[in-house]
Amino acid sequence: MSRDDIHHEDGPYGEAGERLVGAEADGEDSAVEAALRPKELGEFIGQPKVREQLDLVLKAARQRGGTADHVLLSGAPGLGKTTLSMIIAAEMGAPIRITSGPAIQHAGDLASILSSLQEGEVLFLDEIHRMSRPAEEMLYMAMEDFRVDVIVGKGPGATAIPLELPPFTLVGATTRAGLLPPPLRDRFGFTAHMEFYEPGELEAVVHRSARLLDVETDAEGAAEIAGRSRGTPRIANRLLRRVRDYAQVRGDGAISREVASRALDVYEVDARGLDRLDRGVLDALLRLFSGGPVGLSTLAVAVGEERETVEEVAEPFLVREGLLARTPRGRVATPAAWAHLGLAPPRSTAPGAPGAAGQAGLFGD
Ligand code: ADP
Repeated sequence: MSRDDIHHEDGPYGEAGERLVGAEADGEDSAVEAALRPKELGEFIGQPKVREQLDLVLKAARQRGGTADHVLLSGAPGLGKTTLSMIIAAEMGAPIRITSGPAIQHAGDLASILSSLQEGEVLFLDEIHRMSRPAEEMLYMAMEDFRVDVIVGKGPGATAIPLELPPFTLVGATTRAGLLPPPLRDRFGFTAHMEFYEPGELEAVVHRSARLLDVETDAEGAAEIAGRSRGTPRIANRLLRRVRDYAQVRGDGAISREVASRALDVYEVDARGLDRLDRGVLDALLRLFSGGPVGLSTLAVAVGEERETVEEVAEPFLVREGLLARTPRGRVATPAAWAHLGLAPPRSTAPGAPGAAGQAGLFGD
């Protein structure tokens, strides 16, 4: 690929939100996911530690006849936080209310949700780290004492009217537990950190979803989809739907390794789950800058994307996969990156040559 091929004004790789391998839910996901969500803890695949610990928390609460402690779920998008919150409600035989941090801009928004909760209800607060400060402070008291102070009036005449709340279970979800203020974090009785899924677990997710969607899938076909799903069940389910389309239109409807691999080649998701944007970044880093080090801004210009797109959309997965390292002197490709794109690394062993990348990746940008 030459520099001309990859440079366009408006970003040649499309909107990040439209990526087939993006972990955030898109419109189609939201419509289909409800049917694919495991409904009880026993059906939830993977995350064995989280499952065991949560099982104890919920069983103990049920035996005591009380509500479960507040639960904080942290982990990347698409790993099953919303699903787990629904399972918590189902296992407790309780209703669930779903909202999110960005939807609660004023403390009053939160007060009206809290005051309408039923006893034992589960309140799922997605993206809890994005709640406004006043709402967050109101939540402290609600979590601890099941009480809020509603402020009536303004200025010197304003008065705080205490309002008792029924006991409820808050399930907070965040992609970054480190961003939560300690007073909020400390008020959760149980914190679960969700990890990316192992290939075998993702295969099980694919098999389960294929059964629910009534698509015939053999073990190798499921493994092929799982291997391209970036450790994320949401992506596995999305790729399965695209492979199903291909199998239906170009085949007999059944999914084998060959069908899955041909289908995902059409959608430009490679064997390791990299899409065009990821490969564009790696390709520029290797071919135009001999594997680096190169500054983020220069790399972004070469790819024809915004700096933020390269840094926040493409790089995290490339770093996780050990294909790219962020070093104090810039971005560096690892030997695995050359191998993945089928290119031979330059012979030079000078500082900054690809061979040095392994040791250089210890620092941030
Ligand atoms: P999050 O809230 O973390 O973004 P979701 O709970 O919405 O993720 O999960 C995304 C999709 O992935 C759901 O449709 C669900 O079917 C599927 N999923 C997530 N975790 C699992 C799991 N452990 N087993 C089976 N399916 C899962």
